[in-house]
Amino acid sequence: MSLLTVSGVSKRFSSTPGPLGRLADRITGQDSSRTVHALTDIDLSVAKGEVLGLVGESGCGKSTLGRLVSGIYAPSGGSIRLDGEPVATEHGGTVKKTTTRVQMIHQDPFASLDPRMRVGETISEGPRVHGLWSASEAPARVRDLLEQVGLEGAYADRLPHQFSGGQRQRIAIARALAMQPDLLVLDEAVASLDVSIQAQVLNLFMDLRKRLGLTAIFISHDLGVVRHVCDRVAIMYLGRIVETGRAEALYTDPQHPYTRALLASVPTLGTGRADFHPITGEIPSPLNPPAGCAFHPRCPHAGPRCRAEVPALVPAGPGQAACHLHNGGTGQEQAA
Ligand code: SF4
Repeated sequence: MSLLTVSGVSKRFSSTPGPLGRLADRITGQDSSRTVHALTDIDLSVAKGEVLGLVGESGCGKSTLGRLVSGIYAPSGGSIRLDGEPVATEHGGTVKKTTTRVQMIHQDPFASLDPRMRVGETISEGPRVHGLWSASEAPARVRDLLEQVGLEGAYADRLPHQFSGGQRQRIAIARALAMQPDLLVLDEAVASLDVSIQAQVLNLFMDLRKRLGLTAIFISHDLGVVRHVCDRVAIMYLGRIVETGRAEALYTDPQHPYTRALLASVPTLGTGRADFHPITGEIPSPLNPPAGCAFHPRCPHAGPRCRAEVPALVPAGPGQAACHLHNGGTGQEQAA
């Protein structure tokens, strides 16, 4: 049974020119309004107790998808449901989050905590506002949560500037857990930390996961980190999922040329593999995505069909991949 279901989700961001831009458009006869195709046709699900990794290069749409799942943005098309209920509604351009059951942990622990609020207030604010805790029980609950994330209960009286980056991220985790979420979305949650601190925070997450049976979406550009903590992985490229499968299988038997290129672009500790090759070419602009398979300008197997037809996500090896090589073709044939 899926806890989270994302069906046919797309997200577009439009920018319209200001008064001067509109005047310039009128004079030049051009249209400078822009649409960013951030996400297209995303289907995925997360089962209760599962940790799904979302991986891709910067600009692939993984953080946008995290914000949609968290109810911060509303989709332009499709639906996102938690136990069958939408996570957000939109009226007249205003997005309203409809659930507290999804909590997001952001990348920057320095920006995500209010510098003027004591840690205890930061952690207890949400549960008190939403009626999960009474005022009298809040101090004990805060102390318990701080201890659960490896901090001293007495830290509740301190301000954020008195903590290191790793400690602040532990506080952010405690604040998210205080809301008793069914789903956590961790958006590059360890990316801004030193490597040794990253390992400590990841170990904390794994430990909490085991103890509390957490369900999570773990967003990262770091393939090594994702392999370490996730059950299943979805690889994203220019706003689409191009491969998905069980973590171990995807790492040992990648099916999509982009996944193979990503894996080949990082040295992997412990494998003894010394040959790694950066992916050639730039990720295309989501303002003007290429026709057909978005990876075709960088793909060594690209053929005429790849340049004309968007590949569907189909069964490939132990998972699914969106590549014509797995859909009865070689990529070299002409588009239908
Ligand atoms: Fe490469 Fe074609 Fe497959 Fe895209 S569809 S990844 S261009 S072979």
